[in-house]
Amino acid sequence: MAWRSSGASNEALIENLSRHGLIPSDRVKKAMLGVDRAHYAPAAPYQDSPQSIGHRATISAPHMHASACESLLPYLKPGSRVLDIGSGSGYLTHVMAELVKPGGTVVGVEHIQPLVDIGTNNTRKSGEGRELMDNGGIKYVKADGRLGYPQGAPYDAIHVGAAASDFHQALIDQLKAPGRLFIPVEEAYMQHIYVIDKKEDGSVERKKEYGVQYVPLTDAPVD
Ligand code: SAH
Repeated sequence: MAWRSSGASNEALIENLSRHGLIPSDRVKKAMLGVDRAHYAPAAPYQDSPQSIGHRATISAPHMHASACESLLPYLKPGSRVLDIGSGSGYLTHVMAELVKPGGTVVGVEHIQPLVDIGTNNTRKSGEGRELMDNGGIKYVKADGRLGYPQGAPYDAIHVGAAASDFHQALIDQLKAPGRLFIPVEEAYMQHIYVIDKKEDGSVERKKEYGVQYVPLTDAPVD
């Protein structure tokens, strides 16, 4: 994918992703055009590939962020409440915050304090990001994301940016009805995206999608 969609600028990257069918909706494209990936990826920000951000974390590839937004899009509306677990660089937190404004909130959860700080500082690099941080459109918290963030529940959409070892009922419990959870789950050394819908009547439907490679959702490292 990297050789096909990379670009020399944020606009070129997003236009190339769009041309290759990786951002079908205008709303996601507009949101990604509005967030400069250079504020979040320390090196080669306009390559369609994951990049290390330190602390054993990576900023996911732009086509993965696009895919997560496209999947959650019916639940990312002005005023929606969103949880982004494993917010890392803060890039996706910011893109989702663009999709739910005005009036929406995205809570980014990280279990490593330096990554909470990195996400916060990255978001404050742009005027739009600073405004979202100052008006409550984005909030970063340090917590174990496997437990969700009950203080902000219920959520229209929950995104998990690290591979879980199970479906974490706490996250499903914190979804609105209707609401959607996008979560990579590892089973038998293979990771797949699962999309879990809580329907209006409270029933839960689980769909297995494509294979992926994410950093694991774990206890915080002690070193
Ligand atoms: N969406 C981020 C992905 C970062 S990589 C981005 O694109 O920038 C995955 C992140 O999940 C790492 O930052 C890691 O610290 C975090 N993580 C892993 N286990 C966690 C847990 N139990 N609670 C909260 N965050 C966790």
